[in-house]
Amino acid sequence: MDELVALCKRRGFIYQSAEIYGGLQGVYDYGPLGVELKNNLKNSWWRSMIYENDNIEGIDAAILTNPLILKYSGHEDTFSDPMVDCKSCNLRFRADQVPNSCKKEDLTEPRQFNLMFKTNVGPVDDGANFAYLRPETAQQIFTNFKNVLDSTSNSLPFGIAQIGKAFRNEITPRNFIFRVREFEQMELEYFVSPGKDEEAHKLWVQNRIKWWNKQGVPTESIEIYDVPKDELAHYSKKTVDIMYKFPHGVEELEGIANRTDFDLGSHSKKQNELGIKSKVASNKDSNSKLAVRDEDGEWVVPFVIEPSAGVERGFLAILNEAYTIEELDDGKTRTVLKLQPHLSPIKAAVIPLKKNNEELVNTAKKIKDDLQNIGLGRIFLENTGNIGKGYRRHDEIGTPVCITVDFESLDDNAVTIRDRDTMSQTRLNINKLSEYLKEKIQS
Ligand code: ATP
Repeated sequence: MDELVALCKRRGFIYQSAEIYGGLQGVYDYGPLGVELKNNLKNSWWRSMIYENDNIEGIDAAILTNPLILKYSGHEDTFSDPMVDCKSCNLRFRADQVPNSCKKEDLTEPRQFNLMFKTNVGPVDDGANFAYLRPETAQQIFTNFKNVLDSTSNSLPFGIAQIGKAFRNEITPRNFIFRVREFEQMELEYFVSPGKDEEAHKLWVQNRIKWWNKQGVPTESIEIYDVPKDELAHYSKKTVDIMYKFPHGVEELEGIANRTDFDLGSHSKKQNELGIKSKVASNKDSNSKLAVRDEDGEWVVPFVIEPSAGVERGFLAILNEAYTIEELDDGKTRTVLKLQPHLSPIKAAVIPLKKNNEELVNTAKKIKDDLQNIGLGRIFLENTGNIGKGYRRHDEIGTPVCITVDFESLDDNAVTIRDRDTMSQTRLNINKLSEYLKEKIQS
């Protein structure tokens, strides 16, 4: 973990937030390479959910959340951890995470500590007008269920997906970006007819494992955890967690829950007309029935399967898998990030052999512009004149190919392609570069 943290800082993936003021615990900023990797990861998820499935739609809902949403979702009552205070060291811990150095007799009785952030809304800060910063992206998917259904022509089964920020006042943020207070989730709510839920749940567990494999997280690094009944969240009938071998231990990367008809049922009016199967609190505030009509015209509240993944945890798992130190023939070592090419922050570096040589730089610039225009991601002109250093830097940040423009290129219209993983160098005609790169990045 220490090596990953150091690499992230050194190369500009991740910085501690507010570092110049001593930081803000559990909050991180993403640097020039981090933002690219993160966007690539999110795009890959978005593509696999929405573009590849015509029955899944995307939304981007607000972070500021009407408290009624989180009242009826159950978060106001249940989204809390039992906490104890140590009277000796004056620190607060989750009841199940008290360090050995604290004595039992110094601890207070456990008290519930709500994990949601509140913020004042409007000009008067009197505590009455507040909103929550959403603790998960899922709820606005449920509250928009009818809107999306009415504006598209979907019928069951169909899904609504969202990527966005979520906030939790974690008591002990730790393990770098694994447990933080501000993070992003990639969540799909997949609505099915009651009775089709168990089959759909199994299918999504398989789909999600395959997707992680494609991001460079192999099945060997994953463990499947069938959450025991007494540990299930209040809305869940079954939850399977995809656990990953993080540097600090095996922990949750993504959870796939069968949320039954709890959420749509909870947020609906006239609940007694809907045949809701789960136990929901009576709702006097909603003005909508979040339900569909079946073939016989009867109201049915769909069941929902929810694959919910954290972007930060994905980022960390992917970096951990990609990070490699290789022994070279000359006894030296090299650090290489063997990222899947579609995730690499920079897709190709174009390096003129001699710094600031006009002809070489112009040729390199044209190659950069042409490759950039294919739309694969960032192509970088590396005008430092030090090829060896350029290769090392791009190995360390995971650039799949380096393209060197030398004096011969001006005559033979060819360049040297250097592969990140094999370090092999081949000569390729400039006209063939875009085909080569497309194949490399998209495969
Ligand atoms: P944990 O048990 O680790 O606190 P959770 O079960 O509360 O996680 P969920 O509510 O299922 O998490 O959220 C879905 C996903 O969101 C998790 O699998 C994780 O990837 C991500 N996530 C949740 N909390 C955090 C956090 N504090 N920091 C980073 N990612 C998080």
